[in-house]
Amino acid sequence: MIELNVVSVSETQIPDEPFIARHLIDGVWRDSSDGTVFERVSPSHGTVVTRASKGGVQDVDAAVAAARRTFDKGDWSTSSGKDRATLLLRIADLIDRERERIAFLETLESGKPISQARAEIEGAADIWRFAASVARTMHGDSHNSLGSDMLGLVLKEPIGVVSIITPWNFPFLIVSQKLPFALAAGCTAVIKPSEMTPATTVILGELCLEAGIPAGVVNIVLGFGDPVGTAMTTDKRVDMVTFTGSTGVGKAIVKAAAGTLKKVSLELGGKNPQVIFPDADLDSAIDAIVFGVYFNAGECCNSGSRIIVHEDIAEEVLARTVALSRKVPFGDPLDPSTQVGAIITPEHQAKIDTYVRDAANAGAEIRLGGETLSVPGMSGQFYQPTVVAKVTGDMPIAREEVFGPVLAVLTFRTLDEAIDLVNDADYGLSAGVWSENVHTCLEFARRARAGTVWTNTWMDGYAELPFGGVKESGQGRELGKYGLEEFLEVKTVTMRIGRTRAPWVDPRSA
Ligand code: NDP
Repeated sequence: MIELNVVSVSETQIPDEPFIARHLIDGVWRDSSDGTVFERVSPSHGTVVTRASKGGVQDVDAAVAAARRTFDKGDWSTSSGKDRATLLLRIADLIDRERERIAFLETLESGKPISQARAEIEGAADIWRFAASVARTMHGDSHNSLGSDMLGLVLKEPIGVVSIITPWNFPFLIVSQKLPFALAAGCTAVIKPSEMTPATTVILGELCLEAGIPAGVVNIVLGFGDPVGTAMTTDKRVDMVTFTGSTGVGKAIVKAAAGTLKKVSLELGGKNPQVIFPDADLDSAIDAIVFGVYFNAGECCNSGSRIIVHEDIAEEVLARTVALSRKVPFGDPLDPSTQVGAIITPEHQAKIDTYVRDAANAGAEIRLGGETLSVPGMSGQFYQPTVVAKVTGDMPIAREEVFGPVLAVLTFRTLDEAIDLVNDADYGLSAGVWSENVHTCLEFARRARAGTVWTNTWMDGYAELPFGGVKESGQGRELGKYGLEEFLEVKTVTMRIGRTRAPWVDPRSA
């Protein structure tokens, strides 16, 4: 057994009864129309955390009908930005009030460390507050220079009914990157959380109702991609789908939505490189490498899972990364000192392991980890912090999302070579550069094909800054003013002032 920093089992009491999650349709909590349910077993503790109604096509139909009716009625979609902002701020305060309850359930459902779940909920509340600010400040344009007899107005209008489909890795944060902006714009929504993490979205629904969001504005249908997600992406009454998850499902959604030509916004995967130049501050860079790959057990679209390090410092960086990786506290997610928790499902754990085995078989070197691990006293699945060296650009571990605590290390000699490796990817979510030379950083930032570039830092996010990917990492942006724009339609109003237009047909002609 390798030496690792395994955290012992915490004393926190696990509830005897599961959280009961129902659909929220038109302001009412409802069981499924056929009465079926499904259960989520904690990936760390092995107990049933949540018993949820299992939605079907009829439930989606009812939720979409409510969202459509509410939007078309107009009370919500034409309410003032001030009124909508007041509600969003109230929800933010309620999220703060319920932080512990939300974080606890999120930890049990996802296996992530409680400290990270708490930070996620705090970050989500901050996004709701930011969305309140854009609800009040959004506006269109006016064109007063079209000629003395013309005035042009560009109105921003809510796009309509929005389907929101979210994954399991940051369930509360990701719904909070979408819903408050949709509400700020004046849209109504139908939300489907991942079947693995339904509880915290249901709590968010409770808080929306408590804050005073009118019935039918926020609807939630629990269940599986098929049939719930499919129905939400094909229904003619839905105007837009916003999705976060895998690139494969993202492509399926684009095809499904094409039938009714609805707008689709996608936040998909990434194979995000951090490039380390010889003049980098290595203390900071190595800490960021370890944070980047083990945060959320690597189950993170922004995972810094690909390190591209200059050959001259490769051995030093590898040795120090391995040494620091051994110190990362992992184990019981309910212990506040834990930094790496459990893997979401046994199937996903097996997928992670296959990437590592295949890389080793193809000539890569496992410098640390590369094995599953049972944590004493815990029944869930864990994977060792893993560092894989001598990876080449053609290996699946260098090109595909492993979505686990697994670092793939490649090397380069010149900046051009590093940029080629960065851009030789189907994904383009984020990229990072470590150098004390501002010219190196700026050239990298300009040439890297990614939605976000970090220089001498990793994975900082702000409600003010847009987030999203290029290439197969997605389309559209979340957060910032761009996050609001996604949910707005543009309408042009062209107005003639006075009767100045020469007739197209002369009425006096023969
Ligand atoms: P998926 O893309 O499979 O699922 C994300 C959401 O989409 C879930 O709510 C899922 O429902 C739903 N869904 C599944 N199929 C459809 C469909 N045909 N139409 C509409 N909705 C659908 O991601 P997973 O959560 O299963 O994770 C699998 C992989 O996705 C990971 O290993 C990782 O590579 C990647 N991923 C990327 C994320 C990112 O942020 N970039 C986040 C999470 C995952 P259901 O409840 O049935 O799963």
